[in-house]
Amino acid sequence: MTVPGIILHVPHSSAEVPAEVRSQLLLEDDDLARELRLMTDWHTDELFALPPAEAVTVRFPVSRLVVDPERFEDPEAEGMEAVGMGAVYTRTSQGLFLRDEAEATHEREALVARYYRPHHAALEAATSAALAAHGRCLIVDCHSFPSLPLPYEFKVSADRWKVVHRPAVCIGTDTTLPPNAPFAHPGMHTPLWLRERAAIAFGEMLARWPGGAGKAVAGIAFDRPFGGALVPLPYLGNDRRVQAVMIELRRDLYMDEETGGRLPGFAGCAAAVQMALRRICA
Ligand SMILES: [Zn+2]
Repeated sequence: MTVPGIILHVPHSSAEVPAEVRSQLLLEDDDLARELRLMTDWHTDELFALPPAEAVTVRFPVSRLVVDPERFEDPEAEGMEAVGMGAVYTRTSQGLFLRDEAEATHEREALVARYYRPHHAALEAATSAALAAHGRCLIVDCHSFPSLPLPYEFKVSADRWKVVHRPAVCIGTDTTLPPNAPFAHPGMHTPLWLRERAAIAFGEMLARWPGGAGKAVAGIAFDRPFGGALVPLPYLGNDRRVQAVMIELRRDLYMDEETGGRLPGFAGCAAAVQMALRRICA
């Protein structure tokens, strides 16, 4: 079987907090459950699911509260460190203490070694295998986001409108400039054709959304409320053959955000997402 040229990266679908990590977290059980409810990209592993013959799926097996694979490992490179939400979070989405900061400094290396690096090694291996087989590779970074902004979002973004306005689908694009770019340039890992194809595929998905288009109001936006698209570090900024786009679905489209449960039409939602994925990959 040939290796597919498509990689689905699912970093935030797990709510699993291993016992040895639970003891590092300062929250009471109720507060931890609430934070997991708000911060987990629930059911994204089922929504963004293609069979192995069509795509390689790299799913992070534990919660982002353990360690967040979507952040840079190097704190100097990671802007979210400023709000205590770098690779190892010390603050919650509400700005409360999640870990003791001094303890977290000691725990960090073990967490990164145990969970973060093996995940990135798997992602890099999948990327290099796809490049070897096809000469190019498309990474789709698969997420969802709450319909109401969380307090941390206002601290991170200077643009309040970008935070408050919640489209049904947010398409995140790479903004990395190629080395020595002589002029302003779109990000090198999200070419224009990919932006356009993603907008068309997910726009058509919303038009056919199960349960009616009522939920699909506000349509599609690029890099709003969340920007960027993950590219493995060895390829970031130096290999155009690695193409990347992020797809974020607003959670009220497919789930009850209070309970975490799937909406009745969930299977149809998953089928619609998968059809859109196939269209951008085609
Ligand atoms: Zn996410």
